[in-house]
Amino acid sequence: MIIFERAPAKINLSLDVLGKRNDGFHEVEMIMTSVDLTDRLELMSSDNGKIDVAADNQYVPNDERNLAYKAALAFKNKYRIHKGVQIKITKNIPVSAGLGGGSSDAAAVLRGLNKLWSVGASKQELAEIGAFIGSDVPFCVYSTTAIGTGHGEKIYELPSPPPFFVILAKPNIGISTRNIFPKVKMKELVHPDTQAVIKALEEKDFPGLCAAAGNALETVTFSLFPNVAQIKAKMLKAGAEGVLMSGSGPTMVGLVQHYSKAKRIYNGLRGFCEEVFIVQMLDRR
Ligand code: ATP
Repeated sequence: MIIFERAPAKINLSLDVLGKRNDGFHEVEMIMTSVDLTDRLELMSSDNGKIDVAADNQYVPNDERNLAYKAALAFKNKYRIHKGVQIKITKNIPVSAGLGGGSSDAAAVLRGLNKLWSVGASKQELAEIGAFIGSDVPFCVYSTTAIGTGHGEKIYELPSPPPFFVILAKPNIGISTRNIFPKVKMKELVHPDTQAVIKALEEKDFPGLCAAAGNALETVTFSLFPNVAQIKAKMLKAGAEGVLMSGSGPTMVGLVQHYSKAKRIYNGLRGFCEEVFIVQMLDRR
């Protein structure tokens, strides 16, 4: 039996850094939602007990470093399953982009194995396993619109966003979140208004959402990679109603009400940016 699972990219509608904890980690609060740019996973059960991963992207490891591998191992251990699985990943989500591709692949493996091996675990149980793999994995198990704090282990669902188009623009650099946090200087951060983002979601208020959306890590990433700031400026100049960085970057997220404008901004960015997409929200509750 083969199971197919889609792994959607996530974008931030807000990302705030609340402070530095005694253990050196930063306390983060973020609102995320999923978009229809997806990796595709194929899971096939085997009798040899082994986990095999094959991803079609040179930047993604095919061994135990792959988050999909880690998810399969954690799932096998938790439910004491002796079967193996072959996992094929077709990557469409840019890698090291701030779009949570690896975390979403891991979450898709948890959802897929739950079906493949008829385990019957709840989403909450899968999210708990996911929290050991990466802080964005619990969110990706649900893939709706949610606010997460701390290490991502606590996720609270929020109302779905009003409909709009999203432009994703990624310059030709990869950023690892691990490299950005050590450069955070709390006093220099510009904090987004997370409560105003929540209110805008509750009221389905697109202009309010655009005004409040923001990412406290922008100043850090912009100072290291000025071309990321240039993409933001270009999007705003071209008329995007809201623009913020996703995760620790470098992907910039443009929020646009009408498709014709989204297409114009997309065309303007294509010569400047390696990877540009127009996508929509998956959460249509
Ligand atoms: P982070 O914020 O954790 O840096 P990201 O969303 O910006 O994540 P990802 O595309 O998830 O970026 O990749 C981050 C790193 O994880 C890369 O170095 C990549 O090689 C590794 N990785 C492991 N498994 C995967 C996977 N299934 N898909 C993509 N990257 C993976």
